[in-house]
Order: sequence, then structure tokens, then C-alpha cells
Amino acid sequence: MRRGCSSRSPARREDYHAGFRTLRTHRLNDIRAITLDLDDTLWPVWPAIERAERELQAWLQQHAPGTARAYPIERMRALRAQVYEDHPHLAHDFCEQRMISLRIALREGGEDPVRAEEAFEVFYAARNRVELYADSLPALERLAARLPLAALTNGNACIHRIGLSAHFQFSLGAREHGAAKPSPCIFHAACARLGVAPHQVLHVGDDPHMDVLGARRAGLRAVWINRRDETWEHAEKPDLEVRSLDELVHWLERASAA
Ligand SMILES: [Mg+2]
Repeated sequence: MRRGCSSRSPARREDYHAGFRTLRTHRLNDIRAITLDLDDTLWPVWPAIERAERELQAWLQQHAPGTARAYPIERMRALRAQVYEDHPHLAHDFCEQRMISLRIALREGGEDPVRAEEAFEVFYAARNRVELYADSLPALERLAARLPLAALTNGNACIHRIGLSAHFQFSLGAREHGAAKPSPCIFHAACARLGVAPHQVLHVGDDPHMDVLGARRAGLRAVWINRRDETWEHAEKPDLEVRSLDELVHWLERASAA
């Protein structure tokens, strides 16, 4: 999802990278662990969500046709958005928002809301069939060989289902923690589980607000992964900007050899 960022002019890009030159030569010997965002950092999330919506719709057509007729994909999306609005205390829990939406849709479609569990599983299985960015797996292998990694996500992706759990010490989601990034407490909980102080942790993520500013305000160092060459639009800057995880690996290897 784009967040109102615009393409950067060549002149601004030069100025911007100049601002990071000093950081590029810093040694990072005191970095003891890395936390990584998942969606749009390791894989593009929307293709997986759209596939999951299509597979859910196909399942409903077969097993709950009244619901499929009443709630085509666009209307199911609108229902989920309404559930989000109506349940602000569940803002960090996409699974529960989806379950509530499915129960409402099934009931209104004249079918048994208990089937929401099965329907959710269809959606969730497809949502976890993600297509990694080409650099993600090689970079995870090299980063995990160097430092402990933890996944830190506001979404409901499952690194076990995706097959990435071997690279991570653990995954901490907003759902299980009870609060989402940019809340400092989820960053601090990850640092505590890693057994290191916040300033010894590098957080890597695509979202300027939730990942970069959230991590910095929690006392971590923050890497902005900017795969779409967007413009940084906040006064407070990331500690490092990279265009890919591959670039981050090379930067860390250079920094530790300096
Ligand atoms: Mg993300």
C-alpha cells in the first residue's frame, strides 16, 4: 500500500544520501540483534491478500453460496473495514477482525456462522502463501548467520507456515503482544526476548511511521527499506536507508570490516 510518498528528484536524492554518508562509515559493533518487519519487507503483501480473498470467495461459492452472493469480494472488504471501525480495541488483531466479519457475512447470508472457522482457515492458508522478494531468502540466511533475528509484525503472517522460522529466534505479532507498532512496548518486548538493550537492536522495515519512527522512538536503530524509491517525508530520519535487504547485508558486512 502506498502511503502518499512521491518519487524523489535526482537533486533531492543526492542531498538525501549525503545526509547518510557519515552513518555509512560507522562501525556497528554494538549491534547485537536485528528485528525485521514482514509484510512489504520480505514479500509484497497485497498479492497474497488478494489471492486469499479470491480463494475465500471460491470456498464460499461452494460451501456457503448465500454468503458468496451477499458478500462478493468488494463488499466483504467493506464489511471488514466497518468491523475495524466498530472495534477499535481490535485494531492490532487482523485475525479477530476477519473472524467477526466472516460470522456477520455468514449470518446475513443465511448460513451457520460457526463455519467462519473453516472459512478463515481458507483465507489464512492463502494469505501465508507469499512470494518472497528475490533478495529476501539469501539475505535472511546471511543476516541470521551474523546476528539473532526476530520477526516483528503488525500483520498476521506466520513464519512457520511460510517456512522461514529456521531463520528467526521468534516472531512477535501485534495480535499476541496486544499492541501494534509504532507502540514502543512491542519493540521493547522483542528486545527483552532477545536479551539485549534497545540501542543494540537494528529494526528493519518498510513503513516510515510504524517501523522507522516507531523503532527510533523506542530507542532502537532503524533501517528504512525503501524498495520503491519513495521520498522520506519526516524531519526525524532513519539511521540507514537501503533499497533492498541485499544492500543491508552488504552495508553490515562493510561496516563490521571497517
Ligand atoms: Mg511492512
